[in-house]
Amino acid sequence: MELNENARVDTSQVDDRRGSGGGGGMGIPIPIGGGRGGIVGIIIAVLVALVGGGFGLNAATNGGGDEQGDNTSLEQKCSAQDALKQLDCRNALYVNSIQAYWRTAMPEAFGEQYRPSKTVFFSQNVSTACGAADSGVGPFYCPADDLVYIDLSFYKLLADQLGAEGEFAQPYVLAHEYGHHVQDLLGTEAQMRRQQQRDPQNANALSVKLELQADCYAGAWAKNATGTADDRGQKIFTSITEQDISQAIDTAEKIGDDAIQQRSGRPVNPDEFTHGSSEQRKQWFTKGFTTGDPKSCDTFGSGA
Ligand SMILES: [Zn+2]
Repeated sequence: MELNENARVDTSQVDDRRGSGGGGGMGIPIPIGGGRGGIVGIIIAVLVALVGGGFGLNAATNGGGDEQGDNTSLEQKCSAQDALKQLDCRNALYVNSIQAYWRTAMPEAFGEQYRPSKTVFFSQNVSTACGAADSGVGPFYCPADDLVYIDLSFYKLLADQLGAEGEFAQPYVLAHEYGHHVQDLLGTEAQMRRQQQRDPQNANALSVKLELQADCYAGAWAKNATGTADDRGQKIFTSITEQDISQAIDTAEKIGDDAIQQRSGRPVNPDEFTHGSSEQRKQWFTKGFTTGDPKSCDTFGSGA
C-alpha cells in the first residue's frame, strides 16, 4: 500500500479530543505483562466492540457527546512535509478516502445522498451520545451522534496481541466503522434493531448480518480506494496490493467470533456469535472487494 505524498490531509473530517479529558486515569489500564487472564479479558472486550460497532454501549437519553476537540496541532502536523509518516495524519487521510468513496457510491448504489461523519480521536476515555466509553471497547460507531470513535493505540493491540499486522488493517477497521454509518444513513441499522425487538431469539443472528454487511462495505471501499482523491483531486492511494487485501482478510479472520472464543479458551458456540465467524467475515469482505459494489452486500437477503 502506498499513499500519495502529495495528497492533502483534510483534518476537518476528524475531531481530535486526545488533548481533552482522559487524563484522570479513568480508563481501563492495559496490564503490562500481568496475568494472562487479565490481558485476554481486555482483548476480548476490545475485539467484541471493534467488531460490534460499539453497540454494547448503553444509549444515553440526553447525549453527553457535546464535547469538542481541538484540531489546531493536528492540522499543523498534517500540513507539514512528511505528514504521512504520522499515524494520526495517515488515519485522517484514510477517513478522507473512505468518505470520498461513499460520496459517490451511496447515490450510485442506493440513490441516497451521503452525509459525512467525523472520526473522533480520543485517548483512554470519551463521552459520546451512546454513553461514556473507554479504550477498552475498541473503535466504534455511535448512531446517536453519527460519529466514529477510535483510540489509535488500538492498532498496537491488534498487531501485538493478535498478530494482525500490516498497515492495511487500519483503513479496514475504519472502513468497517464507516460501513455502520452508511447502514445508519440507509436505515438498515434502525430496521435491524426493530427486528431484534420483535424477534429477540434471533438478536445475535441479526447482529451478525449487520456486522458482515459492514465488512462487505469495507471490501467495496477497498476495491475502489485507489480511485479516491483529496479535495484538490489528488489521488490518495497510489497503490494497493494483493498483500494489502490479504492483510485485511487476515484481520477480518482474526476477529471472527469463533477465533475470539477459541482464544479465550471457551468452546466455540455459534449461538453466541454476534459478529460472524472468521470464515463468514472473510467471505463478506471478499464479496465486497470482488464486486466493488455495495449492493452486493445483501447479508439480510436470501443469498446470505
Ligand atoms: Zn462493527
